[in-house]
Amino acid sequence: MTREEIIAPHGGQLVNLMVEGPEKEALRARATTLPTVRLSARALSDVELLASGGYSPLEGFMTEADYRDVVAEMRLISGLVWPMPITLSVSREEAAGLHEGAEIALADEAGEVLAVLELAEKFGYDKAEEARQVYRTEDEAHPGVAAVYAQGEVRLGGRLRVLALPQHGDFPEYRLTPAQTRAAFAERGWRTVVGFQTRNPVHRAHEYIQKCAMEMVDGLLLHPLVGETKAGDIPSDVRMSCYEVLIQNYFPLDRVVLSVNPAAMRYAGPREAVFHAMVRKNFGCSHFIVGRDHAGVGQYYGTYDAQRIFDEFAPTDLGIAPMFFDHTFYCKKCDGMASAKTCPHDQEDRVALSGTQVREMLQGGLAPPTEFSRPEVADVLIAATQERTTPHYAV
Ligand SMILES: [Zn+2]
Repeated sequence: MTREEIIAPHGGQLVNLMVEGPEKEALRARATTLPTVRLSARALSDVELLASGGYSPLEGFMTEADYRDVVAEMRLISGLVWPMPITLSVSREEAAGLHEGAEIALADEAGEVLAVLELAEKFGYDKAEEARQVYRTEDEAHPGVAAVYAQGEVRLGGRLRVLALPQHGDFPEYRLTPAQTRAAFAERGWRTVVGFQTRNPVHRAHEYIQKCAMEMVDGLLLHPLVGETKAGDIPSDVRMSCYEVLIQNYFPLDRVVLSVNPAAMRYAGPREAVFHAMVRKNFGCSHFIVGRDHAGVGQYYGTYDAQRIFDEFAPTDLGIAPMFFDHTFYCKKCDGMASAKTCPHDQEDRVALSGTQVREMLQGGLAPPTEFSRPEVADVLIAATQERTTPHYAV
């Protein structure tokens, strides 16, 4: 099989904003003379995904026309589907010293310059409107909405040139760029690949969903999100250990690629499900799993909203094929994993545990039943729960 058989990136070309060679040295030298904007953790992860084409066809932070169409229509002005604003915000005071047409150095928290923005536009925006349209609520208790409200009042739009990717001390072997996941798929001879987004440990229910999908495609990209998440989500190092023991013990190693997605969670539910799918298309996935309440938080979204939103797009506009799954569980009468689509039995025949029940078991050093969690995964979670002081992990 050849690389050409893997799905094309969104918009046709994998964007690469990395500057190399003599141009890089010149830009790095010039950057020391430019006004500098410090990036938030979220903006930093956006720079990382923009740099390597995870956000293809975007080549920088959105300018006003794209931003407005994305918020209102879930499309870029080119007409391409794009559901989430990718923007850089600064305070009015900071914006006052920055000029359209000029360059701005973008630095990490330590002050290291990672990229240069060619500032095309400064523009104001309506935070409440963005919250309503993108998050379907203006409630500040929603973590995605709270993040929008906490941002500066002025957006900086323009093309990026990237000198260096953000440095991460953790999981260096799992930080594959879209070009690298595509190469990994090609090397394995895969043409069709299903992407699985997660910010939780994988228990039996999600393992079952992944394996149902794997019956129909060549391989699985297990692609946990390790960017900024909300308090209460399980730390990414613990989750990575869970994925490793699960894959080692229960998956054919030549059918799975484990890699991390540096994106920040936005908890935008339906819109974020489409966003997650488009990003995975850039990483080379032909299929994407959308479960119940995908990327949701609290009670802001209906159970199936994140699946229904895909009906608003023609399959050719998306390219990547969503695969919808219902809640799954172990059924004692079926004697296997099942879902409401396949099991006719009653609730009492099913092994169902609430998040609170599982948390309490783990904190007490008890493994959930093997019908719910693989024992190797439970061992990792028990050890982590007892080592750490943070008591309220979501599972
Ligand atoms: Zn059953």
